[in-house]
Formats: sequence, C-alpha cells, structure tokens
Amino acid sequence: MRVRPYHSARSTAAHVYHEDDDCPAGRNLPWFDKVEGSADCEPCPQCVRTTAACPDHPATASVS
Ligand SMILES: [Zn+2]
Repeated sequence: MRVRPYHSARSTAAHVYHEDDDCPAGRNLPWFDKVEGSADCEPCPQCVRTTAACPDHPATASVS
C-alpha cells in the first residue's frame, strides 16, 4: 500500500525514501528509525516499481 514518504533516520543508511509499506527494504527499518519525508533522499527503486504498477496511483513525472 502506498504511504507517505519515509526514510531511515540513520546517516549511515542508504539515502532513499520509501513510499510503500510493503517494500522489503522499508519493512527492514525499525519503527524508531523511520522519519517522515523524502528530504535529501532518492526514491527507492523497489517502491517506485511497486507504486507504478498500481493503476490507481500511477507514478508521477514530478518525482525528482
Ligand atoms: Zn522502498
């Protein structure tokens, strides 16, 4: 399911944000390590693929 963007709070973690709560990489993040937002992060490749596959939530071209 698509959710609001979140990413890891650790500075050593990959600088990617997730938009899908079923993303394996996103699910690996413990609850205390999740920060809402997408600042300074690239979109997670797996989340992009998942959200793009949903016809109700097509990937927007505005993601930069
Ligand atoms: Zn992800």
